[in-house]
Amino acid sequence: MTEKVKEKGSEFPSIILDSTHNIQYKRNAFLGKGAFGKCFQITDTMNGNVYAGKFVSKEVVTKYKMKEKLVQEISIHRTLNHKHIVAFYGFFEDETYVYIVLELCQKRSMAELMKRRKVITEPEVRYYLKQVLSAVQYLHENSIIHRDLKLANLFINHEMKVKIGDFGLSTRTENGERKTTMCGTPNYIAPEILEKKGHGQEVDVWSIGCIMFTLLVGKPPFEATTLQETCCRIKQCEYCVPAALSTCATDMIKRILVKNPSARPTVNDLIQDLFFTNGYTPLSLPSSCLVMAPKFD
Ligand code: ADP
Repeated sequence: MTEKVKEKGSEFPSIILDSTHNIQYKRNAFLGKGAFGKCFQITDTMNGNVYAGKFVSKEVVTKYKMKEKLVQEISIHRTLNHKHIVAFYGFFEDETYVYIVLELCQKRSMAELMKRRKVITEPEVRYYLKQVLSAVQYLHENSIIHRDLKLANLFINHEMKVKIGDFGLSTRTENGERKTTMCGTPNYIAPEILEKKGHGQEVDVWSIGCIMFTLLVGKPPFEATTLQETCCRIKQCEYCVPAALSTCATDMIKRILVKNPSARPTVNDLIQDLFFTNGYTPLSLPSSCLVMAPKFD
């Protein structure tokens, strides 16, 4: 054998130490790749508790001038405590990496779920969205805007519960202040961000509308062949809800996806929408729902 095959993640340390709290973690399975590093399952060697460990390369963060973004992500995420938000357990660093210890979500994200399922049923949409809305209600009550709600940031744990993660684009607002700047491009970007008009919590509601559309239709509302065309459609709020969707689902999407942010419902309004109050919502879902539609009797 002439060439040594590099084991996945072998450049990352196999044991990491949070010296402040004197906790040692062992690096286990690779979970996924992020923009600035990789995510692994890690185990506290003292008690066997498992977590998701984000290994963020300091070199890469510095190179892309993303230090501020990382500091912001940590400073916001560490203050949050909600059953539908990925729990933040701690962070520490060595010369090469910043390590972030997070609640492990073993069933990956809703992006992978949708790759398999293509579309999901309305009861499932109610099940997932109710959890997302309760987390976003908590964020908005605490003057935080997530700003990048998308399927890949909605993680699923071993009990099939949803947890919002990735606070890399999130921001805190003070006394109704409108944000005018942002580093990064959110996936389900609202028209007021594209037009740099100043934005607030309504951008999260917009993203929830895009998520709901995608879950029910199988593709995002403003999808086009080019990015430019997508932006154009967003600014004109040009989309079409397929006739196959129920009236309640169609009405809720149409209430959310409006150009004027102040005309959009708030998260509190959405929780009380007919879509949720009129239809069946399962209390739990089996993990078979990751690959096939459930049968509701
Ligand atoms: P990003 O650059 O998109 O912020 P992250 O570093 O947050 O990427 O995550 C990279 C990948 O690691 C994700 O796509 C996901 O597959 C996995 N991951 C992130 N957080 C968790 C978690 N809490 N539990 C399980 N897997 C996770």
